[in-house]
Parts: sequence; C-alpha cells; structure tokens
Amino acid sequence: MAYCRPIPGSKNGLVAMRRLDIVIPVYNEAESLPSFHGCLRTVVASLEGYAVSYIYVNDGSTDETQTVLTSLTASDPAVTVLELSRNFGHQAALSAGLTHADADIVIMMDGDGQHPPALLPEILKLHDCGYDIVQTRRLDRGASLKRFTSRAFYRLINRLGGLSLPEGAADFRLISRTVLLALRDVREYHRFYRGLIPWLGFRTVLLPYEPAERLAGASKYSLRRMLRLASDGIFSFSLTPLRLGILTGGLFLCLAAAEALYVGFLWLSGQRGALVPGWSSLIVLSTVGFGAVMILLGFIGVYVGMIFQEVKRRPVYVVRSVIELGVSAEDPAAQSAAHGGAGTA
Ligand code: UDP
Ligand code: MG
Repeated sequence: MAYCRPIPGSKNGLVAMRRLDIVIPVYNEAESLPSFHGCLRTVVASLEGYAVSYIYVNDGSTDETQTVLTSLTASDPAVTVLELSRNFGHQAALSAGLTHADADIVIMMDGDGQHPPALLPEILKLHDCGYDIVQTRRLDRGASLKRFTSRAFYRLINRLGGLSLPEGAADFRLISRTVLLALRDVREYHRFYRGLIPWLGFRTVLLPYEPAERLAGASKYSLRRMLRLASDGIFSFSLTPLRLGILTGGLFLCLAAAEALYVGFLWLSGQRGALVPGWSSLIVLSTVGFGAVMILLGFIGVYVGMIFQEVKRRPVYVVRSVIELGVSAEDPAAQSAAHGGAGTA
C-alpha cells in the first residue's frame, strides 16, 4: 500500500492510497479508444483513495491504435503503453500487461467498451469486502450462435478439466496483488486466464453484468480464433483426450470377448457350419490387436500427460497467506512453491 503526499483537508494530512493498475489489451481499436479512455477516466475520477495507472497493451495493431495511444500518454501521465512487436493474441497481450502491472490491485478489461467502466466502483467495493478475485460474468440475453457455442464450451471444459467455470466468465476481473504474484509463478506458454485464475483458488466472487455494445469496429474473435482459445483451454486443463486410447482399447477387447463367446456358443451347440471359414480367427485377431494397440497408445498418452504437466511447471500449490509469530503476511513472493510438476493438469 502506498501513501500519497499530504492532501489538504484530510484528517491527519496523510491519505492511504491504494495503487490500482488497469490492464487493457487492444488490437485495432483506434476508433473506440478515445471515447473508451474518456469514459474510463470519468469513472476513475469518481473513485476515492486509489492511485490509478492505465496499462494499454497494443497487440500488434495495424490501424492507428499506436498513434491514438501515444496521444493519450501525452495528455494523461497515468497512461502507459506497451506495444507488442506483432499480434500475439488477446491472452498473450493480457499476459504482457500483467507482467508489467505492479499495483496492490489489478483490473483487466477490454478496450472496446463492452466491459462497462461504470462497473468499476462495484468491483472495487466487492474487493473491499475481502474477495481476492472479483470475476465478472456476462449476462447473455436471447439465443445466438455465440451463446450456444459458449455454453457448450463451458460445459465441456468443466467436465473434462474438472473445473467449474461459470458460463459467460469474461476477461473482465479484478485480482489482488497476492493473486497477481501467484499468477507470475504460472509460466506455461498457452495461457487461458479464464481457467488459470480459478485454478489458483483464492476467495472469489462473481459479478453479473450486462455487456455494452462495442463502441466501434467489429469483434476480433473470428470462429478460428475462438476455436483456438477453446482448444488451448481444454487441452491445457484436461488430460482426458490423451487417455481416450485406453477407453477405445477396452471397447475393442470387449468386442473381441463378445465375438469369442459367440463363436464358442456356435461350436458348442453344433452350429459350426454357420460360421464362414476363417472369419472367427481373423476377427478375433484384429479386434484383440486393435484393442492392444489402443491400450498401449493410452498408456503412452498417460506418460505424455505427465511430461506435459512437468513442462508446464505450474506451481504445485499456492499459498494465500502465512501467519508466523502472530504476524500475517499476504505476499506470497517468498512463499509460493513454484517447484513445477505434479499438480492437477
Ligand atoms: N484483442 C487483442 N488481441 C487480439 C484480439 C483482441 O488484444 O488478437 C483485444 C481487443 O482489442 C479487445 C479485447 O481483446 O480489447 C477483446 O476482443 P474482442 O472485443 O474482439 O472480443 P469479443 O468481445 O468479441 O469476444
Ligand atoms: Mg469485445
């Protein structure tokens, strides 16, 4: 927690200011940015007790985004701009912003106006109630293809990955410094923050919101990008696909057993003539062979899964706070066990 210079009119001349970093990844948002930043500043001006910095991450925009951001830095000293060398994608841009952020509280939100800045006071109030993570949840009204695919995706990832991600969880959330530092121990390449942040644990509250219309331009999430994000989410949280071989192999062995029973029954009941010569041996051999190969593939999948967990080097556990000699410390920098390895996938 930082203390600002004495403020005239405050009780003892000192006001505790909490540092708040707002991380905003942007890609070709030149049209939206001026009104988005204006709106954000108006809301921030109504907050008391926060020293706010805006961290815009220009994710390799090809329009005038960088020029607009540069002019924002000229008019607002609280603005920092990180320009990435090319378009790395929304999650990577968020990652860059989070690495740069160093405040007591971090809020991440989109720069197209769909994450309403007007929600900030409520988000901060919930944090003051003791929540380390304030996760917003988009309320989708009506039926649309995006809503249907999003619902199917959340069901699938929750089932396969053992997570309980709320449907409509957006990359619009507050995290405390403790969570920010814990997140830094997650070094994996494919980052899916909607899964990673709940995976970390911590006290979390959900805040539903009505999404606003885009201020300008169109969504940068094409179907291909959405599928890539979904596959990053599913494959980095679930080893189930790797184990499918064991299941398929088991099914083939069951088939082989059923076929052996059928052939045995025909032999014992004197109906051998009903069998085409050579059919039984061929079918048994191929089903048993397939079954064995599939099971071996499944075993290899299990080992590959373990290697996958090792190379991700996710922390084995995350400490929220330590109380030693009656003193509580919430900064996990010295406590987090980033030994990598065998935690859940
Ligand atoms: N974005 C980004 N890099 C990308 C795609 C998107 O930084 O490769 C930004 C984009 O400018 C916006 C946010 O991520 O601020 C969310 O993207 P978008 O609005 O296109 O997604 P949607 O709201 O349609 O899901
Ligand atoms: Mg958007």
